Amino acid sequence: MTSITKERRWEPAVWERSYHKVLELGEALKNNEFMLVYQPKHNLAKNRFTGVEALLRWPRRRQGQVPIDKVIDLAERSGMIVPIGEWVIRTALKQVKLWQDNGLTIDISINVSPRQLMEEGFAAMIADVAKVTGVDPSRVEFEITERIASDPEQLLAVIGEVRAMGFRFSLDDFGTGYNSLAYLGSIPVDTLKIDQRFTRECTSSIPKAAIIKSIIQLAKSLRLQVVAEGVETKDQLQFMQEHDCQVLQGYLFSKPISAAAIETLMANQKMEQTEPEAPPSCIH
Ligand code: C2E
Ligand code: MG
Ligand code: MG
Ligand code: MG
Repeated sequence: MTSITKERRWEPAVWERSYHKVLELGEALKNNEFMLVYQPKHNLAKNRFTGVEALLRWPRRRQGQVPIDKVIDLAERSGMIVPIGEWVIRTALKQVKLWQDNGLTIDISINVSPRQLMEEGFAAMIADVAKVTGVDPSRVEFEITERIASDPEQLLAVIGEVRAMGFRFSLDDFGTGYNSLAYLGSIPVDTLKIDQRFTRECTSSIPKAAIIKSIIQLAKSLRLQVVAEGVETKDQLQFMQEHDCQVLQGYLFSKPISAAAIETLMANQKMEQTEPEAPPSCIH
């Protein structure tokens, strides 16, 4: 495991402005203060939850929940995302193995930042986690965003190496970067995730609806899976159903919840599905 005490490449400006917070991140990791929550993904064709997305949380006794995008942002700029991201991957895969041991097959997606992917030894670390946990790599997807990588060739090589082990990749927040199509053309991925900024307005904005429809078509013609994020209303669900978006994620189905709550949800669903007149598994 990457040592958190190992000297990281601090950027001076960030260091001066936020070194207290950066140090706190290191302490938090050492003291096991981070945790993961999991948001279910609903598969429309199967009419049930088939997977989850792992999301990082830092619950703090006095300050309450820290906004995770701020934490990730600081972690990325300071380099702390490398050890924190490794902790996320190891914890998520251990959890999948625990669910598996309890009779539940659950696909998982894990967010990884470009900084993490580009760190030397990323592929070797993934190979190690796969070996230690024994999780089937085809059940694990790494979500990447289309932020510019400093070295696209190295990025491509790393993704190739990890995909060769059987892991999958998805483009998260697809369509929000200025370079989406070029990125899609050069990076091999298995899934496109429609950003919630599009989903939110799919029934109220003609341009947003058109963008979603074309992302779904694009995914189809490239034989990629497509996931819509941030589905909150029945109208949005209906829109996605009509346009044949296969997998949906959002508060309409469930907020991110604990590993134990996922286990209960999936176990109940499994029982329902073995009964002939199982009600739809979607939670409203
Ligand atoms: P993301 O990967 O695009 O994750 C989806 C975000 O949307 C999550 O926010 C989730 O809680 C939220 N969300 C899901 N459904 C709905 C909905 O119906 N409505 C609304 N309004 N929001 C919804 P969260 O957990 O705050 O995470 C924010 C971002 O932080 C993530 O966006 C991801 O980019 C990053 N992140 C989270 N965990 C990790 C991690 O372990 N590693 C890395 N590198 N990034 C992470
Ligand atoms: Mg994501
Ligand atoms: Mg997203
Ligand atoms: Mg995002």
